[in-house]
Amino acid sequence: MEEKSGHNLLGFHSMQKACSTIRVGIKDEQSEAVIGLNGVFLLNDGKEITGTIIVEAKKDSIIIFDKKKHIVSSGQDIRFKNKGDSTFTLFDVAIDIGFHWEKKERQVFKGDLVLKRRPHGTIAIINEIEVEDYLKSVISSEMKSTAPIEFLKAHAIISRSWLIYALKEKDNVLLTKERKKDQHCKSTMDKDQIIRFYEQESHDLYDVCADDHCQRYQGITKISTENPVRAVIETSGIVLTYNGLVCDARYSKACGGITEEYKTAWKDMDIPYLKSIYDGEKSFSPILTEKDAKSWICSRPDAFCNIKDREMLRMILPDFDIKTKDFFRWQVRYKRKELEDIICKKSGYDLGKIQEIKPLKRGPSGRIFLLEIRGTKKTIRIGKELEIRRWLSHTHLLSSAFVIEHKYDDLGDIDTFTFYSAGWGHGVGLCQIGAGVMALKGYKAEEILRHYFPGTRLEKIY
Ligand SMILES: [Zn+2]
Ligand SMILES: [Zn+2]
Repeated sequence: MEEKSGHNLLGFHSMQKACSTIRVGIKDEQSEAVIGLNGVFLLNDGKEITGTIIVEAKKDSIIIFDKKKHIVSSGQDIRFKNKGDSTFTLFDVAIDIGFHWEKKERQVFKGDLVLKRRPHGTIAIINEIEVEDYLKSVISSEMKSTAPIEFLKAHAIISRSWLIYALKEKDNVLLTKERKKDQHCKSTMDKDQIIRFYEQESHDLYDVCADDHCQRYQGITKISTENPVRAVIETSGIVLTYNGLVCDARYSKACGGITEEYKTAWKDMDIPYLKSIYDGEKSFSPILTEKDAKSWICSRPDAFCNIKDREMLRMILPDFDIKTKDFFRWQVRYKRKELEDIICKKSGYDLGKIQEIKPLKRGPSGRIFLLEIRGTKKTIRIGKELEIRRWLSHTHLLSSAFVIEHKYDDLGDIDTFTFYSAGWGHGVGLCQIGAGVMALKGYKAEEILRHYFPGTRLEKIY
């Protein structure tokens, strides 16, 4: 994977856009918001504005008030153009929506602020920002800015690649006019089987959102050291390519020892650089049978992401991720009734008394992508990995790589389900914790990327 510069034959419709600015949806479907303008911004009519503003969605337009509730401006589409080095503050931004570590925080942003009114009368709050500035925030939001520089460089390259790939996909969908409102949620359903997965091209008023659905982007608040800035500057314009095309460089928190294939989480297709690898220095034996899955998940093999050293973890993971203590191997236990209630709430189906939960298809990392739940009223099969995680937890299970132990009561009904599980996230592509540990062990960014994305190379495209 050598680096090659000046090559610009990648055929990207979005290359111009990718080289300049990106539109990030920070908050959506808002009826009102309080925003702090730190410094001077210019409104659509050239008027200067600063200080605290209150934004409200009214019947047919967005109204901007100052602190004293005087109307300052109104319209359907209002741009606050950044005059120099101003920033703006949003309060109560929800992050990691739907996961157990969800929380709200105050965030500060560079670039322009754009408010767009949705037809049904809510507001999308959008940040338009230079791509390279966006990346500085992403890598320090996804991981901690104290992480080793070679890891942050690897992350900058995959976050840039992912973004450029996602923008190209979005354009392709728009060009072929295939886009439907719920295009992102690919769902096939018959009465007994639901297969669902979520794509990125769902956003209409902006390119990417600021949460885990796309990439975490939490403004400039998290950039506490020079490292993320240095990592982005030192890799400026460099992306991961395969056969001359920018890679769809996926990543997740911890693979659990073996990375997963693309099709376990998304479309049924093989992406050659997103194949399963052993996340360590040993050779690789994929999980093929239920017996393999059990012995793999119930063991603690050597792997880069098998790390117990809290100090090392603290250097790599953001503070709110540190709270998830066991991610390499973990357990969840439910009383049968509790799990029946969760499934009913999450799926909308009353399956009756659950009699068995049975994995039907697994990927090579042990992640289940087709699961059967047999109940007295109904038996249903669900996939793919994220939907399985969503159905089996009040929030989301950390991963779908699990084996289930059914414990029975005296009447022969199931009393308790215990999930013995591995990994955190979909496991496809780069394992963030594993990559951080590799960097701590002295591996270079190129070596880390070659490990997780076999057959790829680095190219400087702008
Ligand atoms: Zn998104
Ligand atoms: Zn791993």
